[in-house]
Order: sequence, then C-alpha cells, then structure tokens
Amino acid sequence: MSNDAITTHLKETRRFEPPEAFAAGARVPSREAYEALYRESLDDPDGFWRREASDLVFRTPWTQALEWTPPHAKWFLGATLNASESCLDRHLGTARRNKAAILWEGEHGATRTLTYAELHREVCRLANGLASLGVVAGDRVAIYMGMVPEVVVAMLACARLGAVHTVVFGGFAADALRDRIQDSQAKVVITQDGAWRRGSALGLKQTVDQALDQPEAKSVTHAIVYRHLGEAVCPVHMKRDRDVWWHELVDGQPLRREATVVDAEHPLFILYTSGSTGKPKGVLHTTAGYLVGAHVTTKYVFDLREEDVYWCTADVGWVTGHSYLVYGPLSNGATCLMYEGAPNFPDWGRYWRLIEKHGVTIFYTAPTAIRSFIRQGDEWPAKSDLSSLRLLGTVGEPINPEAWTWYHRVIGGGRCPIVDTWWQTETGSIMMTTLPGASASKPGATGLPMFGVVPAVVHSDGTQVGADEGGLLVILKPWPSMLRTVWGDDDRYKQQYWSDVPGAYFTGDGARCDAEGYHWVVGRVDDVLNVAGHRLGTAEIESALVSHPAVAEAAAVGRPDDLKGQALVVFVSTKPGYVPGPELAIALGEHVGREIGKFARPDTIRFADALPKTRSGKIMRRFLKDIAAGRETTGDTSTIEDLGVLAKLRADDG
Ligand code: ATP
Ligand code: MG
Repeated sequence: MSNDAITTHLKETRRFEPPEAFAAGARVPSREAYEALYRESLDDPDGFWRREASDLVFRTPWTQALEWTPPHAKWFLGATLNASESCLDRHLGTARRNKAAILWEGEHGATRTLTYAELHREVCRLANGLASLGVVAGDRVAIYMGMVPEVVVAMLACARLGAVHTVVFGGFAADALRDRIQDSQAKVVITQDGAWRRGSALGLKQTVDQALDQPEAKSVTHAIVYRHLGEAVCPVHMKRDRDVWWHELVDGQPLRREATVVDAEHPLFILYTSGSTGKPKGVLHTTAGYLVGAHVTTKYVFDLREEDVYWCTADVGWVTGHSYLVYGPLSNGATCLMYEGAPNFPDWGRYWRLIEKHGVTIFYTAPTAIRSFIRQGDEWPAKSDLSSLRLLGTVGEPINPEAWTWYHRVIGGGRCPIVDTWWQTETGSIMMTTLPGASASKPGATGLPMFGVVPAVVHSDGTQVGADEGGLLVILKPWPSMLRTVWGDDDRYKQQYWSDVPGAYFTGDGARCDAEGYHWVVGRVDDVLNVAGHRLGTAEIESALVSHPAVAEAAAVGRPDDLKGQALVVFVSTKPGYVPGPELAIALGEHVGREIGKFARPDTIRFADALPKTRSGKIMRRFLKDIAAGRETTGDTSTIEDLGVLAKLRADDG
C-alpha cells in the first residue's frame, strides 16, 4: 500500500440538526428519505432520472440513460431538447409567465425586474440577432460582461441557437480573454460598454478591443456591445464592420424564435476553470446531462419553493453562476436576485440591505466573502432585518468551522440550515452536501453524496483508506453533469482526471469520510503539507488559526527544509484591532499547538494585509509556496486577483 494517506487531527464535533419546522415542510424530510432516494438513483438510474427530470422539456425522450466507455460518458442517449425551453418556454403557459425571473440591482441602486415572459422575449430577440450575424449551432460565442440581466439573456440566446457559450469573467485582463477566445475559436464576442465596480466604471469594451486587436483572436468576426453605462460615463470606440450595438442588432427582430433542437450530448458551454492550480482548462459541458444535474440539485439542495427569493452571489463568470444563477434556478422557475456590484459598496452593509429590501429567503455565497464579513464586524449585518432568510449555502473552499458558526449565528439567526456544497467546474453541479431538511450539518464538513454520485476516499492505488482517514477524493461512477472532455485536448482530460487513480475520476482534493458518511475536504492534494512525518491537509491548520480571535484569514504552505524535509510556513491576516508582531506570532503558535498538536506549530508565521486569491476569491497557495521558498513566482499569474498582493509579500521579504 502506498504511503499517501493524509492524517487528520482537528476533529470538529459540533452538529446542527435540521430545525424541526424546516424538516416538516422539506422536500426530503429525513435521513431515511434521503437514503431511499440515493439508493434508487444508483439501483435504477434510468427510472430515477426520468422521474426527476420529468418537468424539463425534452422534444424526444431518451432511449438509454448512460453509455460508459471509460473515461467518456454519454448520458440520456437519443434525447433531443433545447436547454432554453426548460428555462423559459416551459413557464410561459403557467402562472409563472409574469413572475419575476430576475430581480436586478445595480451598484448605484438602480433596479430592474424581468419576468419570465420578458426574459423569453429578450432571449428570442438576441438569438435572432445572433443568427443574423451568421451564428449557427455549434459555433462558439464568448461572453465578456458584468452582472447585468443581459448576461443571462446572452447565455440563453446562445443556447437557443445551439451555439456554445464561453463566459469569461469580466475581471480578466485582455490577454486572458484573448487566450480563451483563441482556445475556443469564438466567432462572436458579446460585451458591454462598461460595468460599475466599487464605485468606478470598468471599461469592458475597451478590454475586448485590446484582445481582438491581437492576431490570436482572429476567429472573431463580430463584437456585440450592450450599452449599460452610456456614452457620458463610458465612451467606446465601435470598429466598423466588426462591432454592433446590442440595441441596434435586436431592434426590429421578431419577438419569438423557434429553439434549435439539439442532441442530448450537444455542447452547451465551455468554461475555463478559475486556475487555483495551473493553466486554465476549457471544461466542456453538454446539454441534457448538465441541465438535469443543475435542475435536480437546485430543487433539492436549496429546497426551492415557488415563493422563494433566491440569491446566489457568484459571478456568472464562474460555474456557480452558470448552474445556480442561470440553468438551475431558471429551469425551476425561481425568482433570482442579481446584484451588479461589490459587497462593500458603498459600505459593508450592502449585502444585508439587499437581503432586507428584496426579502431574500435563500442566500448562497463563498467562504472568502464570509471571512471578509467577519473581519468587518457584526455591526454591519445587525443594521438590517435578515429574518426573511430561511436557508444559507456556501461553496468554493473548505469553510473554517469558526466561519461556519458565525454564518449560522449572525446571518442565519441560528434558525437557518446551512448547505456546504462541494463540487467543481468539472462536476457541473453539486456533488456533496447535507440536504437541509434531511441531515444534520457539521461545521467544516460538506456532507453526503448527491443522487447518482459515488465518492470514495482512496490511496493512489485505488484502495480505500480506513474510516476517518484522509486520502484522495475520487468519484467512482459517471454522473449526468460531469464534464465530457477538455475542449480541444482530450489527452489532457484523460491525463488530468483519469490517470492518477485507476478506474476513478480524481478530483484533485484530499478528504476524509467519517463514520456517518460525511465527507470533510482537507484541501487540495497538491498543497498537502509534510510536517514532522505527518501528511496534513491545509484546511486543518488554517482552520485552527482562524479559530483564534485575532485571525481573519490564514494560508498554510510547506517550505523545503534541509533538516525536516519541509518546514511549515503560515501567512496570516489579522482582524482590525490586533497588532501583528512577535507576541501574536508566539500566541498563534501555541494556539495551533493546542488545537492540533505541538508537531503542527508553524516554523514561520508571516503577517500580511491580504492573501493572494484567484479572481473567484480562493486562496492561491502555489504563489505562497514560491514566496516561502524565496523562489521567483512560477506559472500562470493571469488568474490572480491582485498582483499587488504578491509584490507586497515579496517586498516584506527583503
Ligand atoms: P482550477 O481547477 O483551475 O485550479 P478551481 O479548482 O479553484 O480552479 P473550481 O472548479 O471553481 O476551480 O473549484 C473547485 C474546487 O473548489 C474543488 O476542487 C475544491 O478544492 C474547492 N471547493 C469547492 N467547494 C468546496 C466545499 N464546499 N468545500 C471544500 N472545498 C470546496
Ligand atoms: Mg479545480
């Protein structure tokens, strides 16, 4: 057996049962009910998915649920559909026709509401406009926009034509956009003049110009520009024969467009992963399997009801925005809040005022946001009435138990269940969590597998580790919303996901599974620390640090060390009112010693104002490793949010 287990020492024992009132009305009201559905999803996948997908629009039903030629899966063979019909058309003949699909609020407080009927109309008009530019099924369309309703219109208009959208986060610079255009060979780019970000106008069209001026982006024939800020705030240059205004393109277009019916396995979108670990990969998702995954998980994980006001704070440039802002909620007929701006504009109370004003009932955000709210203090949420909330969710990183309990107490008022959802760009939809009425939550644990998902924690030879032992997190069976390949690079698909552990999809994460079947993600396997002969995930050490009152955020990395093999270096940012320095460093070392064990006391504690993050807000440890080792930064830096943070850390070195 290989010596690759990950040891765990920080055992969290708190548990929070589903509130009785919540469980009583929940879609899945008990652990037994969950187990029965889960078992059915494995024993009879065809029957299970047929029933659960029955409210989606299929033009022809499937004849076979799965064809599995490892590592390539095809789901729902023989089915034909168009994803936009499930998100729009299916609601038009019902009371949802005039229900708000999108409640939008701009950074400066402007609001707009789009009903399902209006959204349908806008999607049809843009689809007609795109078709007039020559876009046909299979073409790729890059979308480089901010958080305005039109970004949803753009995605669904592509889907309506069978065109493949690739949304590029509006914070990426021109070169990153160019690379993604080149890799996907996009024919059209859809953008907007600019977007508000923390009170200033960010010129998006300008960045598109910089990208399109490069020869690598020559696949693009047209750029469509939505006017959001207007000429006075954000003047743009329109290049003749290439650039068209959105409003001119859709003007006079028919208000209806017949959806292009595609095969179940027709590509729906390509999404480049956020790049915590390396060169972005173009993850390919196809139509039926992805839609079914997003639809069913949204319904069950968020226990979605007709009257909910649902708010997922993720940017549409990430997979969370795709699955839980667009395809999942809209295919369920939900009302979604969409907010354009920053959480701290004009101050740290903005999110809480949004919840109060719009009566948000379900709130889904990321640990990085929660940690920054904690750092700002409880007085901000205290100013707003958050009593409309009934369910909270988190995604993106392991959540430190202290952050979890703060979220539960301060935002959820102690009454809202929290769903800690583990999944990836590659998995398309939520893979593990605790269904809110069915199973108790444990702070820091993601929970139990979703329907059809078979996770395991293994050694690299594929043998299972013992209960409560750490190892590699893999998925043993194909699931409907899994990625189909890496766009244009099937070898990378095989190499990246299917070669580390025999016969299994390797997630890249380390985890342990406790006696109750709950999964605890301990960090990325590439980041595992070798401390005094123990292999440790980063999450435990970081969570131990964050449980100290002075610490806002922490990142743990290893540094090559002649004597020990690896020395433990932690980067810590403090909460206001605490003074970084040798005294605090000693206190933190002792704290970690008490929480985990003396062996885990950091060799070096470095204080930083901020930690390097991906643009989606995840701590990026690979750069911290370089800094800890005194090396030059290696690898792609285009996905880092603020290069200034790295420069500052280096300067502190000298
Ligand atoms: P890249 O793959 O390009 O390095 P990324 O992995 O950050 O980027 P995503 O697909 O957005 O891109 O993130 C998935 C990863 O995020 C998971 O593999 C896991 O490491 C982490 N993650 C997501 N949700 C959770 C969660 N609830 N608990 C713990 N970790 C999570
Ligand atoms: Mg990843």
